[in-house]
Amino acid sequence: MAKLSIPEAAKRAAFPQVKTLEDMRSIGIKKVVTYTNGTAQMANLKLGKIEVGKTIICKQHGKNSKLITNHRYTLEAENDKQFQVEGQWYLKSWFRADTSLTCHSVQGDAIAQRFAIMETECSFASKEWFWTACTRATKAKDVYIYTGTPLLKGLGDRIRRKLFLHQEEDKKKGRAFDLDADWVRKRLKDQNYCCALCHSVMDVMYADLSDEQWSIDRKDNAHGHTKDNCQLAHWGCNRAKGARPL
Ligand SMILES: [Zn+2]
Repeated sequence: MAKLSIPEAAKRAAFPQVKTLEDMRSIGIKKVVTYTNGTAQMANLKLGKIEVGKTIICKQHGKNSKLITNHRYTLEAENDKQFQVEGQWYLKSWFRADTSLTCHSVQGDAIAQRFAIMETECSFASKEWFWTACTRATKAKDVYIYTGTPLLKGLGDRIRRKLFLHQEEDKKKGRAFDLDADWVRKRLKDQNYCCALCHSVMDVMYADLSDEQWSIDRKDNAHGHTKDNCQLAHWGCNRAKGARPL
């Protein structure tokens, strides 16, 4: 007998399905379990709001900080670029809202509210992963499967489009260019999908002209788009920096 794929298995198990973020909001789903950090960050941007008094999850931190990765902290205060937890200030990009959990960060936890499992179509997601995600529920009827458009769908096209435009621009101006799609993807992950200038999450599923969208920021505008001269930042932050008098 052929093995069932995860979405088929989910259908047979009769978990209800949700197809859009709007549907999730309307039926009161406030948590999601994802496979990748990138999808978790996008779901946070669309569903989760980080507020003082709420819980946030540490995703990365500097060498000498007392923070623990995947540990939850209560947000005590925030300023432009930093969050305060346990009386100390840290970069915002080291944290994520407690809305979206990767299976890895949720192991051993119980979720006592409705939640949706995303990325069940992801080729890396195993049945064990799906099982771990499902069994976080304290009630089976709280589990929903997201079967809509993957939140990072279209990212490849957007990366290629931006790179093409920058390459043309550098060619015209006689500047060096050595960026590629792998560099952008690695950089997004390394920056935890956050802006290098303000440290808040960037949108990869942006509407045209949105200031929240990711962009490639040249640290020194006298030079071209090269790996050692570039970082990722909100389009809005990038333009504001360019407009600042030196
Ligand atoms: Zn920014």
